[in-house]
Amino acid sequence: MHALVTKADDNPHLANTLITSYIKLGRIDYGHKLFFNLSTPIVVSYTALISAYAKCNREDEAIKLWFEVASMKSFGGMVGHQIHAHALKVGLEMNLSVNNALIGFYTKCGSVDDLVAVYEGMRAKDVITLTGMISGYMEFGMVESAVEVFDQIPGRNCISYNALLTGFCQNGEGLRALLMFREMVEDHMEISDFTLTSVVKACAVLTEKEISRQIHGFVIKCGCGSTAWIDAALLDMCTKCGRMEEAQKMFGQWSHIQSRSVVWTSIICGYAQNGQPDEAISLFCKMQADGDGTVDEVASTAVLGVCGTLGFYEMGKQIHCNILKSGFLSDLCLGNGVISMYGKCGNMEDAIKLFNLMPKHDIVSWNSLIASHLLHRQGEEALVVWLNMEKVGIKPDSVTFVLILSAYRYTMSSSVNTCRGLFYSMRSRYGIEPTSYHYSSMVGVLGYWGCFEEAEELIKELPFDPDASIWRALLDSCRLRSNTTLGRQVAKHLLAIKPQDPSTYILVSNLYSASGRWHCSDRVRNEMREKGLRKHPSRSWVIYQNKIHSFYARDKYHLQTKDIYSGLDILILECMKIGYEPDTSFVLHEVEEHQKQDFLLYHSAKLAVTYGILMIGLGRPVRVVKNIHLCGDCHTFFKYVSVVTGKEISLRDASGFHCFKNGECSCGDYW
Ligand SMILES: [Zn+2]
Ligand SMILES: [Zn+2]
Repeated sequence: MHALVTKADDNPHLANTLITSYIKLGRIDYGHKLFFNLSTPIVVSYTALISAYAKCNREDEAIKLWFEVASMKSFGGMVGHQIHAHALKVGLEMNLSVNNALIGFYTKCGSVDDLVAVYEGMRAKDVITLTGMISGYMEFGMVESAVEVFDQIPGRNCISYNALLTGFCQNGEGLRALLMFREMVEDHMEISDFTLTSVVKACAVLTEKEISRQIHGFVIKCGCGSTAWIDAALLDMCTKCGRMEEAQKMFGQWSHIQSRSVVWTSIICGYAQNGQPDEAISLFCKMQADGDGTVDEVASTAVLGVCGTLGFYEMGKQIHCNILKSGFLSDLCLGNGVISMYGKCGNMEDAIKLFNLMPKHDIVSWNSLIASHLLHRQGEEALVVWLNMEKVGIKPDSVTFVLILSAYRYTMSSSVNTCRGLFYSMRSRYGIEPTSYHYSSMVGVLGYWGCFEEAEELIKELPFDPDASIWRALLDSCRLRSNTTLGRQVAKHLLAIKPQDPSTYILVSNLYSASGRWHCSDRVRNEMREKGLRKHPSRSWVIYQNKIHSFYARDKYHLQTKDIYSGLDILILECMKIGYEPDTSFVLHEVEEHQKQDFLLYHSAKLAVTYGILMIGLGRPVRVVKNIHLCGDCHTFFKYVSVVTGKEISLRDASGFHCFKNGECSCGDYW
């Protein structure tokens, strides 16, 4: 019989028979144990077990334990509601421990309404109830309600503090978590490993290098920096706070057997987020080749993200195949990741196909599909998805609106009216409060179509102080429509709000350069240098034979540098023959005219495209990705290149895809 027990997990019917037999033999305890060890307990076995318990008046215990196990295994749904109803029927609605278990259960497997209903119906509440409610509210993003409950707890203990701390992290409130931790230290609360792990996670949320160093020191001083969980959290924090060297060092010296897969995932994601996606990919390949750590859903989702960033279609497709093989596709997160990856790799067909094949969609799936269309500047298609979404009754979220509003940049100018209508109906019709993201999308649309007065008017009427993203949207429109007068005013606002942000300086400096005001442009850049602000250097890359070939401007590190430069020189000459003239206004330095050309001609995107043309066989498009906006001269140049080589060039920059074909670009020259 015992041998059968080990097989029971794969076969629910066998499990059920076993449980009933145990009970018939009078061994409820065995039946009980087996039931709680099943990964998917079924209702029949539950009924058998519960009636056995009922016979000896231990029904409350059975129900309580059922909810505890179900919430641990995230198993619930309809069955959970049935058992809750049963508990009410047998008069357990006032049983404190059953209700506490229910709170835990609905936190993991129910809705906030279920949760609040149980809580409000309870006459007796203890510290477990209140702590459970803190976690519950936090799980549903209701941070303030959780804090309210916390304030009601008379004798707060370490567990209630920890629940609040974890909740803050979960909801991205890193700073509040740290302040709370300071309070805990000052109040001489017990600091457990769990607390420290949460604090380290809070630092990771906050992404402040200096604070992360202080907390790191504190944890080591506590002598707690040696359990696998804390070390894994510390390593993850280093990656999130841009301390990759330290993370790599910890990773190299990893001595725990546990958490191996977790730290692989952290370090891979770390490289991805710190602008070193190629490192991320090579580590992922190493992890697979060494068989060290399992490629789980999290790692796969992370690497899918990297593949999207890089435009690494082959590897993305391979991960998709692995997912299909391992049966992870029911995981919504992964499915959404695959849609996004295909969209970013320029393959809309696969993205749409997968979306249609997915058995279930959540709001992220819809948003991913819309975002993919936007990357391809397919405004009309994005709006069709939006219509379908409304048709099937999916409630849009805040992100959907940011996307849909932006879609109107890629439709007809006459649809600005529709966009305006949608924007003003967000609150009344959809119950979504417009945030600065929505305002910047709207300002971006208005600016794009040249309605500068209305954009300014909208900013004036803002119910809150305009933040940098809104000014940036306006400034970008000024660049696009060469409105330097307004651009200068906007730049002033922007520099006043975000003096520390390098991207602001770049935007402002580009505005001046584009209008030939070298002096101003250089002044802005010098100021930036003095303040020690650095931008991510501009970089372009091509994937060839499963390797990333990456280029900086005037880069001479590639093994085939000679071929690339001579190839580019030939391309330039050929393009000049049919009318290309280098536009030196895009050189951002005040240098001699001939030097200016030199700076311009060897931009990273030109080097990457040339390499692609040299290596990638006839009939196949050259795919290049650039980490920031393409400059106007490169844009013009590639149109000519597509004529002289007869090749199609697909280039993704920060604004989306440009597809150069027969001397034209799919963006219609506005990007
Ligand atoms: Zn360029
Ligand atoms: Zn273009």
